[in-house]
Amino acid sequence: MLKIAIQKSGRLYEDSIKLLKECGIELNNGNKQLKAAAYNFPLEVYFLRDDDIPQYVYDGVADIGIVGENVLLEKDKNIDIVYKLGFGRCRLSIAVPKSMGYTSIAELDGLKIATTYPLLLEKFLKENNVNVEIHEISGSVEIAPGIGLADAICDLVSSGSTLFTNGLKEVETILMSQAVLAANKDLSIENREILQKLLLRINAVKTAKNNKYILLNAPNSQLKNIFDLLPGMKSPTVVPLAEEGWSSVQSVVNENDFWEVIEKLKQYEAEGIIVIPIEKMIV
Ligand code: ATP
Ligand code: ZN
Repeated sequence: MLKIAIQKSGRLYEDSIKLLKECGIELNNGNKQLKAAAYNFPLEVYFLRDDDIPQYVYDGVADIGIVGENVLLEKDKNIDIVYKLGFGRCRLSIAVPKSMGYTSIAELDGLKIATTYPLLLEKFLKENNVNVEIHEISGSVEIAPGIGLADAICDLVSSGSTLFTNGLKEVETILMSQAVLAANKDLSIENREILQKLLLRINAVKTAKNNKYILLNAPNSQLKNIFDLLPGMKSPTVVPLAEEGWSSVQSVVNENDFWEVIEKLKQYEAEGIIVIPIEKMIV
C-alpha cells in the first residue's frame, strides 16, 4: 500500500483530487476524514496541511506527497521530486511599496522584509550580496508594509492582484513554482512498483492533455508535406477516400504547435480538419 499526502483544503486540493481521478483512482472519502483508501488502486490518501507534507514524506509517515515546490524547498527536507505536475503555478517574489523608486536589488539593503519563506529569501539575498532584516510571519504577509511591520515583503504571487490592492509592486522573482510529486528516498520495493504504476498513469494523463488527435482530408499530392508536419506517435494513419486522389490522415499534434500546424495544413490544401481531445496517451 502506497501512502500519498495531499493538501486537505486550499489551492492544491481540487487539482490533486482531479489528478487521482483522471488516473482512474476512486476514493472512498464521503465526509473528508483524515485519510481515505482507494477502491481500485493500492493507495491510501492522507489529507494534511501543505506545510506538513515535506516532513511527513521525509519521516515516511507518507511515502509520497503533492506539494508546491515553494514549500518543499523552504522546508529543505531530503526527499525527491519525481514529477512536476504543472498545476499550482506561482512565483515567490519580493515586493515593495509602489511609491518606492526601485532601480536595483541593492535598494533592498538595510530594509526589513516580512515573509513566510525565510530560508529561500535568505539564500536569494546572500547570492546577491544584500543584507536585510528578515521578519518571519505566518500569514497575511501582504499587509505588513501597510501596518508598519516591514518595509517590503517576500510572498507568493500569481496574478499580482493581491499586491496591487495592497499598494505593492513586484520587484524580484526568487522562484518559479508549481505543484510536484515528491517521494521518500527509501521506499520499499513494493511501494516503488506502485509508484511506477502511478507515474505511468500520471504521465499518460499529462501527455494526453498536451496533445490533440487530428483528422483531415488532403490531396495525395500533398501527403508528403503533411507527414513531415504531423509525424504523429510513429507515423500518421492514412486511409484512401472514395474520391480518387484524396486521403484521410489521422495523427497527433502537440498543443504548443497547434495553431502553427493548422495554418500550414491549410496551405497544404487540407480540408475537413477535425480536432479531438485525447483522454489518455501512452507513448
Ligand atoms: P494550508 O492550510 O494547507 O497550510 P496554505 O494557506 O498554506 O494552506 P494555499 O494558499 O492553499 O496554502 O496554497 C497552497 C499552494 O498553492 C502554495 O504553497 C503554492 O504552491 C500554490 N499557489 C499557487 N498560486 C498561489 C498564490 N497566488 N498564492 C499562494 N499560493 C499559491
Ligand atoms: Zn500552508
